[in-house]
Amino acid sequence: MAAWTSKIIFLPSVTSTNDYLKEKARCGAEEGTVVWAAEQTVGRGRQNRHWESRPGLGLYCSILLRPQEPFSRLPFYTLFPALAVVEAMEACCNLAVQIKWPNDLVIKKSKMGGILTEASLQGNNLHYVIIGLGLNVYHQESDFSPSLAPHSTSLAREGGRIADLDSLLQEILQVWPHYYQQHHLLPSLVDLIEKWENHCNHMNRRVEVKEGNTIRCGLFAGLNSDGFGRLLIDGTEVTLAQGELSLREVKDVAGC
Ligand code: ATP
Repeated sequence: MAAWTSKIIFLPSVTSTNDYLKEKARCGAEEGTVVWAAEQTVGRGRQNRHWESRPGLGLYCSILLRPQEPFSRLPFYTLFPALAVVEAMEACCNLAVQIKWPNDLVIKKSKMGGILTEASLQGNNLHYVIIGLGLNVYHQESDFSPSLAPHSTSLAREGGRIADLDSLLQEILQVWPHYYQQHHLLPSLVDLIEKWENHCNHMNRRVEVKEGNTIRCGLFAGLNSDGFGRLLIDGTEVTLAQGELSLREVKDVAGC
């Protein structure tokens, strides 16, 4: 397999790094193309939810992959980027970042980042995958909108050793091949799943999962071999897709 290389396109401002890179991907951009912006004016989370991307305060970037794998492997493309960020932040900032299913990066239960994976299909295969990262780096409390501030944090707020944004991105791109190239055609993701579970902040905890109007409570029991979440409800296992659900940890209370 060819060595991983990346080509970084830096933009002072963009609507959304994922949207910009999607256009590039449609025009044939190569695997490893990275779009990095100082700000996003219409940053997105899942379900088109707004991602606050204040100028110069965070790392907002998207990475293009062309993995030639079946569509069924899509969960992998949210799992491994989370691990790459965890490892990079530990190396770069000496901070322990944890993962909240399916795509949140948290420190002590406050959200410091998110991953937005979007894919284009060709038949049953992945044609390209775009992985967006939005990480809060220099934010202080007043930099978040009032509704987000109580649940959000940044590397600076957690007292991390903060390198500049360029070094953070370089660190992520340096650990990236280890996770991507070493796993992406492997039949089994056991090692990766075990590592993910070790960094999950609600492993074996009681959680509430909201999907549309349905709320289910149970024990988060990690991931199955396909990379889907496992929720145990009174001993019965329910599979959690990554798509539209939102999870929060709950205290042990009656009915949950
Ligand atoms: P949750 O799991 O917390 O319900 P989610 O995983 O569904 O959230 P995403 O869709 O990935 O979240 O991200 C969008 C949400 O994240 C927004 O609705 C907002 O609540 C929150 N958010 C937006 N910008 C930021 C930010 N810079 N830092 C922390 N949280 C943010």
